[in-house]
Amino acid sequence: LELANPGVRKLKPYQAGKPITELERELGISGIVKLASNENPLGLSDKVKAALRDELDDLARYPDANGYYLKTKLADRLRVQASQITLGNGSNDVLEILARTFVGAEHEVIFSQHAFVVYPLVTQAIGATPVAVPAVDYGHDLDAMAAAITERTRMVFIANPNNPTGTFLTAEDLHAFVAKVPEHVIVVLDEAYNEYVPEKLRADSVGWLAEFPNLVVSRTFSKAYGLAGLRAGYAVSSEEIADLLNRIRQPFNMNSLSLAAATAVLDDQDYLQQSVAVNDAGMDQLIAFCEQQKLNYIPSRGNFLTIEFGPKSGEIYEQLLHKGVIVRPVAGYELPNHLRVSIGLPHENDAFIKAMKELL
Ligand code: PMP
Repeated sequence: LELANPGVRKLKPYQAGKPITELERELGISGIVKLASNENPLGLSDKVKAALRDELDDLARYPDANGYYLKTKLADRLRVQASQITLGNGSNDVLEILARTFVGAEHEVIFSQHAFVVYPLVTQAIGATPVAVPAVDYGHDLDAMAAAITERTRMVFIANPNNPTGTFLTAEDLHAFVAKVPEHVIVVLDEAYNEYVPEKLRADSVGWLAEFPNLVVSRTFSKAYGLAGLRAGYAVSSEEIADLLNRIRQPFNMNSLSLAAATAVLDDQDYLQQSVAVNDAGMDQLIAFCEQQKLNYIPSRGNFLTIEFGPKSGEIYEQLLHKGVIVRPVAGYELPNHLRVSIGLPHENDAFIKAMKELL
C-alpha cells in the first residue's frame, strides 16, 4: 500500500453494480429494470448492428490507430479540422488523457460540488489537489469557481448538463465564465448529455474554440447515441492541444468495433431523434409522478432525474431493488437525500412509478 502514489491511496474504489442476471438469481426475481447508469433504453441502432457485423471479419487486425473515418465524419459535422479531434475509449478516457497531459502533482484542479466522479478521480490519481467549489441550487457556482482560480490552478472541469444533478448552464453564463479564465488554466467543458438539450439552448461551444485556445469540449457516444458498452468518446480542441493529447493517448484506445459503431451511428439521425423523443416523454412521466407525490426533484436537462426522498433514500433504494427496479444512490456525491433515476422506456418508467407508489 505504501508503494502506491499518495493520490492513488486516497482514491475510493468505483462502486460497480452486480451483473443483472446475477442480481436476478440472488433476489429470485426476473425482468429487473435498470435505471441506474444513464444508458440509452432503446438499445443499439440497427445501423450500428449492421456495421458491427461487417467489422467482424477484420477483428484479427489492429484498429485504425487514427480513427480516420470517424474523425473525418465528426470534423465534417462539427465544422472543425480532423486534426482538432482526439478519440477516447469513452469520454472518461478523454478526461483522463486531458488531466495526464496538463496536470502535475503541483497543480490544483477545480470542479463543482456534486460534480462527475471522474474529475476527482483523475485529479487525485496524478497527486494534484482537487478543489471542489460549493454548488448553488445543486448546480455550478461559476462566480465562485472563477474566484477559486489561483496561480496553481491548471484545469477546470465543467459538465453541462451536470451529472448527477442534471443542472444546466446557459450559453451566455458559460461564455462569460470561459472568457474570465486566465490562459494558464485549461477549461474542460464536458458535454456528455449535449444531445438531450434542445438545440436552441445549446452553447456553440465548439465554435468558441477559435476564441479560447485554452478550451476543450468533450462529448460521448454513450448517451443519446446509445453506445455505452462500446466505449466511444472524443475531445474537440485547438490543433495544438489535440496534438498533445494524441501524443499521450494509447494508439488503439478506441477498438475496431467502437470505431465502426460510432462512425455508423453518426449517420443514424432517426435513432438520435428517437432517443431524444423517448427521453423527453420519459422525463415528463417522471416529473408528473414527482408532482403528484409532492416529491422535490432537481430540474434536469440530461437523461435522468435526481429526486429527493429524504433521509430514507438508502432504504428506498434497497426496497426498490427488491421490487426489481435499480436506481442510483448519490450519497457519494454529497446528495444523501436523493436518488438518481435514469429515464427508461415508458414501461420501465412505469415499473419505477408503480414500485414507488407501493412504497410511499
Ligand atoms: N461525463 C459525464 C458528465 C458523465 O455523466 C459520463 C457518464 N456517466 C461521462 C462523462 C463518461 O461517459 P463515457 O465514458 O461513457 O463516455
